[in-house]
Amino acid sequence: MPAAAINRKSREELKLMRKAGQIVAEVHALIKENIKPGVSTLELDTLAEEYIRKSGALPTFKGYYDFPATLCTSINDEVVHGIPRADAVLKDGDIISVDVGATYRGLIADAAFTAPVGKVSDELIQLLDATKESLFAAIEQMRPGNYLEDVSGAVEDVNKRYPFGLVRNYGGHSVGRRLHEEPFVHNFRTGERGPELRSGCVLAIEPMFNLGGDDVYTAEDEWTVLTNDHLPSAHFEHTVAVTDSEPEILTILS
Ligand code: MG
Repeated sequence: MPAAAINRKSREELKLMRKAGQIVAEVHALIKENIKPGVSTLELDTLAEEYIRKSGALPTFKGYYDFPATLCTSINDEVVHGIPRADAVLKDGDIISVDVGATYRGLIADAAFTAPVGKVSDELIQLLDATKESLFAAIEQMRPGNYLEDVSGAVEDVNKRYPFGLVRNYGGHSVGRRLHEEPFVHNFRTGERGPELRSGCVLAIEPMFNLGGDDVYTAEDEWTVLTNDHLPSAHFEHTVAVTDSEPEILTILS
């Protein structure tokens, strides 16, 4: 059976997603400026929420399945979905992953980055760089005529060139009027080529690499995902549209 087609956004929807993506990119810039030792993740969350609302958008994650915050903030061995807290205070040598979604007039963009706090080890810098490299390799595959498996395979291929684990239980997704639309975007080859990419398809691509093994679990708060071996994890994500020519990253500053 052929894979179900990925829904394609209209010109008008893409316009609004572009605006949502700009707001997300601006929040990233704001949060990066404020990541330093002594800052709590709750302080970062407050900055992000105020900025999104001031921009005429809504924080997509807040209230999504009852998630309580604007940002997901995941420190060190936390992979994704960490909840901002007043007592989660950044320290020199940490890494922090920040994920944020903005909804602008009903359309959503979603993106994440991992940043060092103060001075971090060379191996952590390499972990961040490799994860980001895999994201951009995947984005490069976002072209009409390619298949979903090409995007997934690009992440896996970069991962294999490094001694890092690859998180397999979580991945990307299509996005638009809902945060998580079909299809799921694996960060490795599944053996099925999946749907064809066509102009107007939009995917949030989000590789997660671990300093140690692949395996992760969910904490008792039922949100925070952690590595089994408690070694650090990195996460980069962009919302990307397939066009008739080059891939369009909606969540970078234009
Ligand atoms: Mg996402």
